[in-house]
Amino acid sequence: MAQYKYQKFLKEGQSDVYDKRYAPGSEAYNAGIYRCVACGHEIAIAKGHTLPPQNHHQHAPGLGPIEWQLIVYAQAKK
Ligand SMILES: [Zn+2]
Repeated sequence: MAQYKYQKFLKEGQSDVYDKRYAPGSEAYNAGIYRCVACGHEIAIAKGHTLPPQNHHQHAPGLGPIEWQLIVYAQAKK
């Protein structure tokens, strides 16, 4: 599970982007921390980079395929 020390650096958001599931190998439209919905494995990725592919990590049989969900959005200063 993603962790932090200082709450002042994070705030809750209600955007729909947190509800979407992204396929392995698809483009990360938002920079931040993504979590595999099936197993909880987490990765950090830059905007525009490719989310890790299906063979990124192994799931136990029956756990299902990798699906990435954005859990922390890294907001760039404009
Ligand atoms: Zn996984």
